[in-house]
Amino acid sequence: MTQHQGRHFLQIPGPSPVPDRVLRAMDMPVIDHRSAQFAELSKAVFEGCRQIFKTTGQVLIFPSSGTGAWEAAIVNTLSPGDRVLMVETGHFATLWRQMAARWGIEVDFMPGDWRHGADPVAIEAALAQDSAHAIKAVMVVHNETSTGVTSRVGDIRAAMDKVGHPALLLVDTISSLGSIDYRHDEWKVDVTVSCSQKGFMLPPGLGFNAISEKARAAAKTNKMPRSYWDWEEMLKPNAAGFFPYTPATSLLYGLREAIAMLLEEGLDAVFARHKRLAAATRTAVAHWGLEVVCLEPAEYSPVLTAVMMPPGHDADQFRKTVLDNYNMSLGSGLSKLAGKVFRIGHLGECNELTLMGALSGVEMGLSTSGVPHRAGGVEAAMKYLEGRTEANAPTHLKVIGN
Ligand SMILES: *Cc1c(COP(=O)(O)O)cnc(C)c1O
Repeated sequence: MTQHQGRHFLQIPGPSPVPDRVLRAMDMPVIDHRSAQFAELSKAVFEGCRQIFKTTGQVLIFPSSGTGAWEAAIVNTLSPGDRVLMVETGHFATLWRQMAARWGIEVDFMPGDWRHGADPVAIEAALAQDSAHAIKAVMVVHNETSTGVTSRVGDIRAAMDKVGHPALLLVDTISSLGSIDYRHDEWKVDVTVSCSQKGFMLPPGLGFNAISEKARAAAKTNKMPRSYWDWEEMLKPNAAGFFPYTPATSLLYGLREAIAMLLEEGLDAVFARHKRLAAATRTAVAHWGLEVVCLEPAEYSPVLTAVMMPPGHDADQFRKTVLDNYNMSLGSGLSKLAGKVFRIGHLGECNELTLMGALSGVEMGLSTSGVPHRAGGVEAAMKYLEGRTEANAPTHLKVIGN
């Protein structure tokens, strides 16, 4: 293995790089999780989380991966035999569906091509047919990390309201929260699922459920066995700033700092930065003559860009070349996209110059690997960023930005 100098470029769409400021905040002695000092820390993070999820309700924090938080959403709101509506946006939607099926949930899985987000019109039509209200929940992935396609959660909520369907709305924001505009209360989401290692810029290890009153009421009558994930067991001690078991204390120090960083920059500025970097990335990809997976400009992901490899070239071989030569990790194609797609993460602690470094590595990698492309994508992205702030987007490039 090559010995590399300098900082590794972790350009995968999660885990994302952890800012130095967050690393330093975690470099603390572990404290007694039953002390007043700990309660102060947890109350600060609960309050901060409300601002990030945009809710006045409860946010539960589990020591877990995002997958654990998916499970918590299911076992607290649904019962075996319940029907739910899900949309096949990509790999992560498919995994969440499999999990629901393992818990005995009957999933209506609307087929998708992995290149579009969940269609609010199709959801509306499916719900309109369900006059008996057999569907207990609509479950969608906000940012499908396997494809770089977002779903319009506000429009999905509007579609549900239009037909007056009482289903719960469960949303996976694992790779969108803190990077893409998201409004738990305004969009009347019942459970928002998230985790620490993507937009929150933390190491892996925290899972989140933001919950509505309606979801909490459902949890009081549903019939799914659970213990570790039980919301009420968690909420009782949370009220005083404590946990029912040992929490991930060090990660909570990091979370407090990461929330402070997001709020100091301002959430709107954070979201605009992600859109700007994503648009610059697509400018480079288009210049190279390569294709992004997402086919709907309104659904381009601000968090990552998934790029199709030209036929006859292996995306994993290309990623290995980039890693070996330039010390950069790119995201792989997942399940049916394996070998066909590579993903460029531009989330969290990413700015213009980090992105330019990353795009340079991609362009050099295309060259080194003999992948046919038009040179100069990096320069096109530079020009895009030079001319571009949200306020003065050059009009000829507006069609690319979203
Ligand atoms: C990363 C990711 C997951 C899985 O999270 P883990 O922490 O790996 O369990 C689920 N959904 C989406 C959209 C993701 O990006």
